[in-house]
Formats: sequence, C-alpha cells, structure tokens
Amino acid sequence: MKCPFCNAPDTSVIDSRVSEEGDRIRRRRRCPNCDKRFTTYETVELRLPQVVKQDGNRAEFDREKLRTGFMRALHKRPVSAEDVEAAMSRVIQKLLSLGEREVASHKIGEMVMEELYKLDKVAYIRFASVYRSFQGAADFDDAIRELQGPDNRKEPDKA
Ligand SMILES: [Zn+2]
Repeated sequence: MKCPFCNAPDTSVIDSRVSEEGDRIRRRRRCPNCDKRFTTYETVELRLPQVVKQDGNRAEFDREKLRTGFMRALHKRPVSAEDVEAAMSRVIQKLLSLGEREVASHKIGEMVMEELYKLDKVAYIRFASVYRSFQGAADFDDAIRELQGPDNRKEPDKA
C-alpha cells in the first residue's frame, strides 16, 4: 500500500492484529521513505451482487422486489410471515455467498422458485408458470409484475 504522506509506492507492515470482535484486521504500517506511520483496516466485503436483466441492464438488488415476488406468489396461501422471511434470508445468503459482483436475474428467479417449492406447491406452480413463460423474453421483474394478483393475472402462454 502506498504511503498517504509521501506517496511512496511501498510501505511495510510493522504490526497486525485482529479486532476484539474478530471482524477486522488492524495493521500498523511504516513508510521506509518518510518514516511516517499509519494504520489500515481490513474488513470483509459482503455486498449483494448487481442484478443483470435479460436485456443487459443492471440494477441494484432490491429486497422489496424479492419480497413482492414471494408475496404475490403466496397470495392467500397458508404460509406464515416467518416462513417467508426465512425463505428470503436463504435467497439473500445464497446471493452473498456467491461472492460475485453480478448475478443474472433469472438465477434469482430460480432461487425463488426453489424456495417456493419448499414453502407451498400452489405458490410454486403459480410463480413457475408465469416465470417460465417469460424465459428468454424478459425476466424476474416481469414475472413479478405479471403476478400482480389473482384478479388481473393473465393465464401464462402454453407455448
Ligand atoms: Zn512516506
């Protein structure tokens, strides 16, 4: 790491220690050029990946959109809010553990389907039929929009 005082390209680490919480490493560094000392911290970067849509556009991962997807598929189904939360957390954990900067929208759709399959078969079929009818053409966002509710939900194409 370069020196923040004189911009020398290399500095040496004179001490490293893990924080009490164990979530970061503190390093004391010394610049061999100007002899100044400074401290750096190393932490884990845990960021949700950007969502890449079928059309190539990117968007921030949206927790609310994920919730909406679940809620619409589970509309009037006997599934508790706790179970929905747990399913959402599993999807988010899975996304975090990918360690990728980007994830395809359809991958998220598949993760949601997997969770719905475990939660409620009716919701799973509801989501899967709408979602699959969009494969290739659009993506998760469109599937959610299409799941607006039972009243204005179109029958998916059986193509
Ligand atoms: Zn220096």
